[in-house]
Amino acid sequence: MLIVKKFGGTSVGNKERILNVAKRCIEEYQKGNDVVVVLSAMGKMTDELIAMAKDINPNPPKREMDMLLTTGEQTSVAMMAMAMHSMGIPAVSLNAFQVAMHTTHAYSNARIKRIDTDRILNELEQRKIVIVTGFQGVDRYDNYTTLGRGGSDTTAVALAAALNADACEIYTDVDGVYTADPRKVTTAKKLQEITYDEMLEMATLGAGVLHNRSVELAKKHGVQLVVRSSLTKEEGTVVKERIMMPQAEISGVAGDDDAARISVTGLEDEPGVAFRLFNILAKKNINIDIILQSVGQNAKKDISFTVKEDDADLAVKTIKEHLPLGSYADVDATTDVAKVSIIGSGLIGHSGMAARMFEALYEVGVNIRMISTSEIRVTVIVDRADMVKAMNAAHEAFEL
Ligand code: ADP
Ligand code: ASP
Ligand code: MG
Repeated sequence: MLIVKKFGGTSVGNKERILNVAKRCIEEYQKGNDVVVVLSAMGKMTDELIAMAKDINPNPPKREMDMLLTTGEQTSVAMMAMAMHSMGIPAVSLNAFQVAMHTTHAYSNARIKRIDTDRILNELEQRKIVIVTGFQGVDRYDNYTTLGRGGSDTTAVALAAALNADACEIYTDVDGVYTADPRKVTTAKKLQEITYDEMLEMATLGAGVLHNRSVELAKKHGVQLVVRSSLTKEEGTVVKERIMMPQAEISGVAGDDDAARISVTGLEDEPGVAFRLFNILAKKNINIDIILQSVGQNAKKDISFTVKEDDADLAVKTIKEHLPLGSYADVDATTDVAKVSIIGSGLIGHSGMAARMFEALYEVGVNIRMISTSEIRVTVIVDRADMVKAMNAAHEAFEL
């Protein structure tokens, strides 16, 4: 069997944990399996590197940022290989260059295009444990890229797909996927299994336990994932196409405080206005999330939308620079918002689910700023200070 095992930052955060992970991987190896290990940077190293960078330059070039951040994962894979060698096991660490993990050119948000498997297969054939840096890639001009925060999960799934692995296990600091972030909602329950579609929505809407693109890739290539703890032997959560469990109406609640709301007021109420506004933002690669447009009055209208917090300043600057003066009255941004969502394929057939969520928020006095729905989710924008309260209220209302 070929098994891909991914360990996150906390799981390799210090010497004891690295040795613990090394032991777990060696157990698998000694059963005769081929083992490919994907690692994140140790502990909070990525955050620390970002802080160091911003200290020397508040607006660091994205290329240099990726050049810096890739050192985090390079540190942990080398340490892990050393740990395994100290236990008498042949292991080799490989970075994105050495593997040849080809990505697009989009620094800080690159997508994996292709992975050369020759080097890895060759090392496995020599009965080595292969330890690969998560989160990083190389573009076609040989620049380092990164896949977005939490992107090591995506590296693991992409490798599992490319190597046709028999299993892909994501080890983290919780023992599975819960109905909500167990650190924010203490009554959250562990799910035995969850579908790709629901997991993708959860991850996209803030459940950081899996990088959303990793779920997308897993679905596309039919890679079954197991999310479990690196510290205990508890059975984890299986992420797959179809699940057997009787479906609850909703499968989970997610919160995301990485959001900012931009409001543009006094726009002309005529065709082409939304196009012009969002087109100039698209050209700057700013991803827009929820959009709310007011009903026009006196030939004027307002448009509000949300973006990632990091993009807020750029969005305002872009609008001020490129939207003709006089075509709108004002633009401003607030980062004092967060997103709370309920997710579940049960939402399709049941009416009144959104109302039940709104009632729950009303009962705890949370004001809803914006609303957006799809077939399998309802999302609201609330004040950031209310996020955890709103998550708990929604979780309770659906008796998860
Ligand atoms: P790693 O470094 O292992 O990748 P992450 O911090 O990225 O770990 O992801 C694990 C964290 O995800 C947990 O500590 C937990 O707080 C958070 N989390 C958010 N939503 C969920 C959820 N629905 N189920 C489990 N964990 C969640
Ligand atoms: N080290 C990277 C991060 O902190 C990637 C990851 O952990 O998956 O975002
Ligand atoms: Mg993670």
